[in-house]
Amino acid sequence: MIAGRPRLVIAHRGASGYLPEHTQEAKALAFGQGADFLEQDIVATRDDALLVVHDLHLDRVTDVVRRYPHRARADGRWYARDFTLAEIRELEVTERLEADGRNAVFPGRFPPRQGRFRLHTLADEITLLTGLNRATSRGVGLYVELKHPAWHRNEGIDLGAAVVACLAQAELSRQATPVWLQCFDPGELRALRAGGTEWPLVQLLAREPAGQGDWQGHDPLSDEGLAALARHVDAIGPWLGHVWRDGRDTGLTARAHAAGLAVHPWTLRADRLPDGEQDFMQLLRRLWQDVGVDALFTDFPDMAVAARDSLTAGGRGST
Ligand code: CA
Repeated sequence: MIAGRPRLVIAHRGASGYLPEHTQEAKALAFGQGADFLEQDIVATRDDALLVVHDLHLDRVTDVVRRYPHRARADGRWYARDFTLAEIRELEVTERLEADGRNAVFPGRFPPRQGRFRLHTLADEITLLTGLNRATSRGVGLYVELKHPAWHRNEGIDLGAAVVACLAQAELSRQATPVWLQCFDPGELRALRAGGTEWPLVQLLAREPAGQGDWQGHDPLSDEGLAALARHVDAIGPWLGHVWRDGRDTGLTARAHAAGLAVHPWTLRADRLPDGEQDFMQLLRRLWQDVGVDALFTDFPDMAVAARDSLTAGGRGST
């Protein structure tokens, strides 16, 4: 962590360890558990609504297959882009399912196909969050991911421009509701910065980032690559294994800090620990204190907040 900066808990798809991901219920729970940011993944619908959903597809988290059996594409997947927002709002949301459509990806979580959950838009979530911030005098932020911008451009929509326009329309007060924008595609982030976006930008880094876009000749995990990123983004959001591997700090966090970048690794899950780890709370504390990450993505915001606040150095806002 860079001195003077807070340690931030990003609720990954909401408190998704407890309730179906990207539902308003999961977001409200994350807010109540003390998260600093709620994450939104954004995908466009047929009528260009900005839907909060993780995949381009609807078939792993809704009952779209049962309801619209004939609207898959040739690849056998049901795309949000092929449905109107009105249609999507009627779908029942479930805890995430495996490709078999039956078993849950995380068997110990909320039971699949139970409850009455719905998907919602970025505008809906801004309303929820700003309302909660107002009612509690807190300043929880939006942490918005642009999903597959090149794919969306091919589908006839500039997702980055649409998200920026939606945020601008909401007239968010920077202090009351902070916003970060995140993307795996480096070209999209360069374009957003060149376009004058005012929001801090996070370059997500996949397990194998090389295939994720145009890095302009640099390995993004090298010192040169980090220095190049620091010219237009504020943080990196690396796969956890780039930061912490075999029970040890890999050194990436310190190198990124030296380049002037904050570090926000993903994804910390109590029910899916990295190889060799046995104690989730201890892993969280080591990331906060020993590695010095600035923020982390987690499905379990309550535990990340508890681990941070248990450190002798104190909680948010300390060194
Ligand atoms: Ca995401």
